Formats: sequence, structure tokens, C-alpha cells
Amino acid sequence: METSTLNNTPPGTVYLVGGGPGDPELLTLKAARLLAAADVVVYDNLVSAAVLAHARADAEHIYVGKKAGNHALPQLDINKLLVTLALQGKQVVRLKGGDPYIFGRGGEEAETLRAANIPFEVVPGVTSAAGAAAYAGIPLTHREHAQSCFFVTGHLKDEGCKLDWPTLARPGQTLVIYMGLTSLPDISRELIAHGMDPATPAACVRRATLPDQQTLTGTIATLPQIVIDAGIKPPALLIIGGVVALHHKLDWFSERT
Ligand code: SAH
Repeated sequence: METSTLNNTPPGTVYLVGGGPGDPELLTLKAARLLAAADVVVYDNLVSAAVLAHARADAEHIYVGKKAGNHALPQLDINKLLVTLALQGKQVVRLKGGDPYIFGRGGEEAETLRAANIPFEVVPGVTSAAGAAAYAGIPLTHREHAQSCFFVTGHLKDEGCKLDWPTLARPGQTLVIYMGLTSLPDISRELIAHGMDPATPAACVRRATLPDQQTLTGTIATLPQIVIDAGIKPPALLIIGGVVALHHKLDWFSERT
């Protein structure tokens, strides 16, 4: 049975769209087309203004992210909002930073939409790990340094967040840690305690792909203090592994004219 509104208008489609890491040119053509057509854009704080500028001039914009001191709209409320808007017959773009299915809670939104019988589509985006790697000159894999790469949450306070430290501490791989800034001292301590060489190169890339991108480098032992001394604020990614040593050779972005 089709889900329909009270007055029998068919529900609109919800597009879960990845907006990429920040540089608007990293938006996919599909994301730009859907943004230009949507009646409503529901977005959060990692979406850059230049990306949002692709929305139709008269589209409704609904911000559901965090604002100084205030909490973001709880995820359950965001899920409900998407369903409500679609039931009003609107075409909805749910715009997220990076990729919707990488630490973006897109899976939960898709499950809610499916349960409510709302048609939905998912548009991948350039995840911030790929953006940071490219723009900071840190290839995530490299035949001489890393044969595998992990995308890990550093939000250690999350209920049920148990990282497999012995596996993460192994050599010959790259770790990309999302949301890891606050827990960096704990992450550093755990990795070293589980056998990672304290001299392993490590980087913190802030506001990757944006004009004010910052890259700080050190080792897994020294990076926590370097980041504190520089007063780095989110959003930032941590990249750990031998590939980080390539940054000084491959850093085309800060050298561009
Ligand atoms: N879905 C997003 C991740 C959301 S989780 C993606 O695919 O990129 C939020 C975390 O993403 C931030 O805490 C930060 O670690 C990372 N992040 C997002 N955008 C970033 C950027 N431009 N530069 C550095 N880190 C970023």
C-alpha cells in the first residue's frame, strides 16, 4: 500500500545527500542537481555555505545542527521531521557533510524512511577522510607504508564504543579517526600501550579542503600536545601511520599560488 497524506497527495522523496568535505567543487553533479530542485533542504553544521548556495533560491532551509552551546536536534526528531516533510508532498534533500553513510547517521534515517514507506535515495559524497588525504598530501594507502586503512570513530564517550586497540595499533596500516580531537590524548595512550611505535607519524587536518585548511604533524606520542598548543577546534580528522610522512613532500594545497 502506498503511503499518502491525508488529502491523498503522494509523499515526496527524501534524498540523503553527501555534501562532501567543504570545497563546493567536490559536490557531485547529482547532489547539485537535487539541491537545485528540492523544496526543502535539511542540513547540519558540517555543510559549508558554498555548498548550500546550490539550493533553489526559494527552498525552505532547516538547520538541525549544533550552534554555540546548544545541542543539535536529537536524531529521533530529525528522523520524524524528514517523514513529516515528505508526507506534506515535498521533495526533501537531507544534506550532510562528507558521505551520508560514513559516521553520518544516514543509515538510521534511511531505516526510518523505509519503515514509514517514504521513498528515498542516497547520494554518496566525498568523505572528509578522502578530502583531507588529497588536500593534505597524505595518500591513505601506499605500497611502501600501508596495505590497509581503517575509518574509526574517536567519539569514545559514545555508549557501546569499544575500539579494538590491538588491531588498530598494528604497523603497516593507516588509521583515520573521525571526531577524535577531544579524545586524542586517550587515543595516543591506548595505541602506544597496545604496541604502536611512539614514533609513528600522525597528523591532524582541520577544515580539510576549505581555504583555511590546517595540517599539524608530529608522532602519535607528540601530536596530542601539538594540537592542544595550537588550540585546534573541530572539525578535524586524525591520520596515523607511515603515510603521514609523505605530507611534507606532497602538500600541493598549501603551496598553491
Ligand atoms: N559524514 C562525514 C563525517 C561526519 S562525523 C564524512 O563522511 O566526512 C563528523 C567528523 O567528520 C568531524 O568530527 C571530523 O572528524 C570529520 N570532518 C568532517 N568534515 C571535515 C573537514 N572538512 N575537515 C576535517 N574533518 C572533517
